[in-house]
Amino acid sequence: MNFKDLGLCPELLQTIEELGYEEPTPVQVKAIPPIIEGRDMVGSAQTGTGKTAAFALPTLHRLAKPGACRALALAPTRELAIQIEENFRKYGNQMGFNMALLYGGVKYGKQLDQLRNNPDVVVATPGRLLDHIGQGNLDLSNIEILILDEVDRMLDMGFIEDVTKIIQKTPRSRQTLLFSATIPDSVVRLADWALDNPAEAKIDIKISAADTVSHALYPVPAIQKFDLLIALLKNIEFENLIIFFQTRRGTDKISRWLTEHGQDVRVLHSDLKQRDRMSALQDFKDGKVKILSATDVASRGLDITNVTHVINYDVPQHSEDYVHRIGRTGRARTEGEAFTLCKPEELPLVQSIEKLLGNPLPRKFVDDFSYRDSPAEMVPTGAEVSKKRNRGFGKQVSFGSRRRR
Ligand code: ADP
Ligand code: MG
Repeated sequence: MNFKDLGLCPELLQTIEELGYEEPTPVQVKAIPPIIEGRDMVGSAQTGTGKTAAFALPTLHRLAKPGACRALALAPTRELAIQIEENFRKYGNQMGFNMALLYGGVKYGKQLDQLRNNPDVVVATPGRLLDHIGQGNLDLSNIEILILDEVDRMLDMGFIEDVTKIIQKTPRSRQTLLFSATIPDSVVRLADWALDNPAEAKIDIKISAADTVSHALYPVPAIQKFDLLIALLKNIEFENLIIFFQTRRGTDKISRWLTEHGQDVRVLHSDLKQRDRMSALQDFKDGKVKILSATDVASRGLDITNVTHVINYDVPQHSEDYVHRIGRTGRARTEGEAFTLCKPEELPLVQSIEKLLGNPLPRKFVDDFSYRDSPAEMVPTGAEVSKKRNRGFGKQVSFGSRRRR
């Protein structure tokens, strides 16, 4: 299968060739033809498999037809909106469309200029879009294609009301494209309400959270987590590394400690000013700094090349987030490694991740590290647990020997 077979217009085919895309990814093969036909679409596939092009290319194709239609793409985070707009620009660079990029935390001036320019494509985060609509800066009555990207995240972040409001402001006749790495029930309900007889392009997530990523779980007593992180950083050769944390405070604290240990780190989370978020991300993308410490604000959708390692300092609370986080490395078929530090208390979270992946995460230990507890006993694999206790996955287990010191 090649891009030509998918029915895309010559301008797009030429750009795709210039970008060096040799063949469409599976989700692109499934999603592009029905979107070109004008069908609604639910698309899901693991991160890093080209979902953006799966909706952006056929959207641009449709915009190119006479009697141009207009498109709106909604994204959960500012960084993601920026990235989607960049993609529309990149794929549409031979087509002369106007774009507008709307997100919060920055001044209105430039966004107003873009809106006055009659954009063909608007990419936005929900809050700022509603602000603009409230001020009469744009209305959505001409939207013909509505794209909801990273919807699972959008709902997690509490955007359901805003998203619902926005959808209601678009014409019923619109074409609606919903993309997400995972499709939990909340997304199914939204799709039932917002989409009309959608075609589906679903590529199952297997352990292939990215086939090219090798995973490992590093069991460690809670109080030794930071020491183990330092030991790991010494042992691995990384080019660009993202460390994920559960909380903003944790991100700040551990990053400060890392800096005190001579590591060059930038921080990305939603408490920071938008300017600082952008510059942290840009410095990391440009290779000016090798370590990015982040909350899940960076785990969804961001396409950063050359991330050789991802370290989960905390086991993600939602198993889908594991797939998203490690999806930051091993993108577009490059090799990557993902390590998860796990204290015994986090075992139930590990078990639900293993259930989602359908495979146990291999346990690894740092050779020259002096563990306070026997590491092998700390976080048994599902197989060991069920052998020992005759219990399956997903159930709470207690640990044999948790010595107090
Ligand atoms: P997702 O939204 O599924 O997480 P992205 O849309 O961000 O993934 O795409 C991941 C990377 O893959 C991007 O750098 C993109 O340029 C690249 N890419 C997309 N489609 C192809 C393709 N057909 N061939 C090669 N690279 C591609
Ligand atoms: Mg994406």
